[in-house]
Amino acid sequence: MLLTVNNLSVSFGGVHALHLDHFSLGEKELRVIIGPNGAGKSTFLDIICGKTKADSGEVIFKGKPVLGKSEVQIAELGIGRKFQKPSVFPELTVYDNLLLAVKTKKDIFSTLFFKVSPAIAERIHDVAARLQLNTVIYKQAGALSHGQKQWLEIAIVMLQDPTLMLIDEPAAGMSDEETEKTGALLLELANTHSIIVIEHDMKFVEQIANHLVTVLVRGKRLMEGTFEEVKNDQRVIDCYLGR
Ligand code: ADP
Ligand code: MG
Repeated sequence: MLLTVNNLSVSFGGVHALHLDHFSLGEKELRVIIGPNGAGKSTFLDIICGKTKADSGEVIFKGKPVLGKSEVQIAELGIGRKFQKPSVFPELTVYDNLLLAVKTKKDIFSTLFFKVSPAIAERIHDVAARLQLNTVIYKQAGALSHGQKQWLEIAIVMLQDPTLMLIDEPAAGMSDEETEKTGALLLELANTHSIIVIEHDMKFVEQIANHLVTVLVRGKRLMEGTFEEVKNDQRVIDCYLGR
């Protein structure tokens, strides 16, 4: 297993945000986590990437314990996180945003004052092409469509060279067409990366859920199964209808 989580819990001011008995993810697996608002989905990813401290439990990534490490150390282990909030620089071009992502990962002084090596430039173009940003690579990021900005965020995470990517609600605010394209891009990325995607749009979940879906409700794991199993589970139907 690439990632194993046991008895992970965190409370905020007495409110149990997460109490996850077990979760595991294999190499190059794409896992979708669904659940109603406030279920603890974002908190779960926040703990894995070191943004939020857990009260107890364990997170093992590539055989190493992750809890207690800083966000930077966890990123260096190979966990990349795309947040819900945008973090691109709108005045810079797509290319420069991507270049910055490479620079923050590597030693900033070694790249800042020197010409960009052809290998780095090639990598940026490769990642841009995978996220279908090659046609807009010299456009200002601020001028991109909403969908393209989200794909740029994913490209930025890719350039940090993660083994595991954590992606929170990638299709939020997207048109149907952009949502479908995002699904196709994620499935393509899953050929080379392990990915955990949080999502609540069931049509989108159906498109990307190629293996297992984990359902979180009130901080706990309600069930795990294929999209078909999850979709037809009465408890899942009930919690999505708010009963
Ligand atoms: P989801 O992403 O599934 O919608 P969250 O993980 O954002 O849910 O939130 C789970 C619960 O934890 C919610 O009740 C939320 O209000 C609470 N919560 C999340 N982050 C914090 C925080 N930093 N401080 C206090 N409460 C929080
Ligand atoms: Mg959330």
